[in-house]
Amino acid sequence: MTRPSTDAVVIGSGPNGLAAAVTLARAGLEVTVLEAQSVPGGGARTLDSQLADGLRHDLCSAVHPLALASPFFAALDLPARGVDLVVPEVSYAQPLDGGRAAVAYRSLDRTVAELGVDGGAWRDLLAPLVEHERLLTALILGNRRELPPGLLTGPGLRAVAAAVTRLLEQGTPAWNLRFRGGEAPALLTGVAAHSIARLPSLAAAGTALMLATNAHGAGWPVPVGGSQAITAAMIADLEAHGGRVVTDCEVTSWRELPRARTYLADLAPAGLLRIWGDRMRPSVRAALGRFRHGNAAAKVDYVLSGPVPWADERMAGAGTVHVGGSRADMAHAEAQVADGVLPARPMVLFSDPALHDPTREVGGLRPGWAYAHVPAGHPADVTDLVTAQIERFAPGFRDVVVASRCIPAARMAEHDANYVAGDIAAGALSAWGMIARPRLSINPYAAGIPGVYLCSQSTPPGPGVHGMSGWHAARIALRQRFGLPAPSLAP
Ligand SMILES: Cc1cc2nc3c(=O)[nH]c(=O)nc-3n(C[C@H](O)[C@H](O)[C@H](O)COP(=O)(O)OP(=O)(O)OC[C@H]3O[C@@H](n4cnc5c(N)ncnc54)[C@H](O)[C@@H]3O)c2cc1C
Repeated sequence: MTRPSTDAVVIGSGPNGLAAAVTLARAGLEVTVLEAQSVPGGGARTLDSQLADGLRHDLCSAVHPLALASPFFAALDLPARGVDLVVPEVSYAQPLDGGRAAVAYRSLDRTVAELGVDGGAWRDLLAPLVEHERLLTALILGNRRELPPGLLTGPGLRAVAAAVTRLLEQGTPAWNLRFRGGEAPALLTGVAAHSIARLPSLAAAGTALMLATNAHGAGWPVPVGGSQAITAAMIADLEAHGGRVVTDCEVTSWRELPRARTYLADLAPAGLLRIWGDRMRPSVRAALGRFRHGNAAAKVDYVLSGPVPWADERMAGAGTVHVGGSRADMAHAEAQVADGVLPARPMVLFSDPALHDPTREVGGLRPGWAYAHVPAGHPADVTDLVTAQIERFAPGFRDVVVASRCIPAARMAEHDANYVAGDIAAGALSAWGMIARPRLSINPYAAGIPGVYLCSQSTPPGPGVHGMSGWHAARIALRQRFGLPAPSLAP
């Protein structure tokens, strides 16, 4: 039997798979996306969690620091496509023991004013980066092989120098030198901890500096309706250009695939090896086989009868809350995770999207979104640990919890095979990994088989809902396989 044929097949409909599909379809190719799960979107899905009638939870991403800052999304222009991105006035906050908190407002001035003794140090750390947010974001979200326009100018080089010196400071034991109090370092460490890595480290400092810069720049938006709104906008554009998404279609071997001139895999290296391992160049197969996954997240979805009663009322409007205590507390918890130990007081990320999007509240109930950092593959239900951490800074939290459920790290891959053992970044975050992700190669997207490319967050620039890995990989596929330039993404 002859297999059907098409121009391009994308495996996986996460943000990067869809970014690749949209790019290829806009270049005039016939594109089919094959998705294992019944709902497309990967890490950008908003689903009925079956906890309360009509209430929907973001399965993975909830807050989108890169939805406005990513060059791919900026070009796609999500707001022009009807995605309502609400930018909270408080980008993120860090509750501390004793009823206090440190707060990162979108306004740098207000943040500095409320950080007291370390206000000046905060401004000195971030103001030079915020001034060049677009350029630095384009550099960090680049493919590590090309430089963004404007970088090799006086202001561009000064911005890079400012970023590098701050990276070396915050990514090393020198990280406490600039601070005198406890609030500012805790505030920054909450962002650094997104990397789920030992602290301090260069990769964590890079994460902190980029996201903290975005927090005072484009902001950390919450999409009305949840993350699925971003997925829906990309699928609408794909379909408008003749593409399609087929769900409930898990690909296990290249033999099942339609014939195509190119394949883009929105997969972790393990998924790529499973499908194409027997056809891959041995050196590439060996290199991808050595790919290292990181530690993990265990998700907790809450149904809440009202907002969280944070002890510090300035936190009431925070888009994201980093629940981990002081800098030393968080460094200790992340070190335990790195050592394979489940912390008694884990690092927790929390968001209450209904604060910014009233459509998320149904019948007086609202979704509470949380996850805790745990060792890779850990089977624990962490609900009690997460609840206790939040209660520590919000006495009475237990009284607003109506229902909850946990997805342990060991079960995350059932919802998205890329999250191997609960590794939500699909690859450990390390300084070396920034250069050699997924392997050391001139073309990190090449899968070692002509026409096959990896386009997931396991490739540069790495984790987050930004679409950039898909965009970079699709541009290479267009050039190498079809001799076509990158298309416009404008609505
Ligand atoms: C709990 C959690 C919280 C997060 N919070 C945030 C956040 O607030 N903000 C943020 O920016 N990022 C967040 N992230 C990270 C973000 O979700 C990811 O960085 C992003 O989704 C990666 O996109 P991707 O397209 O590379 O892969 P994914 O989104 O993982 O998509 C991969 C897709 O491929 C499919 N697939 C896998 N194997 C196969 C197969 N064999 N056949 C067919 N299909 C297959 C999967 O089902 C999935 O749909 C979070 C992630 C998790 C898990």
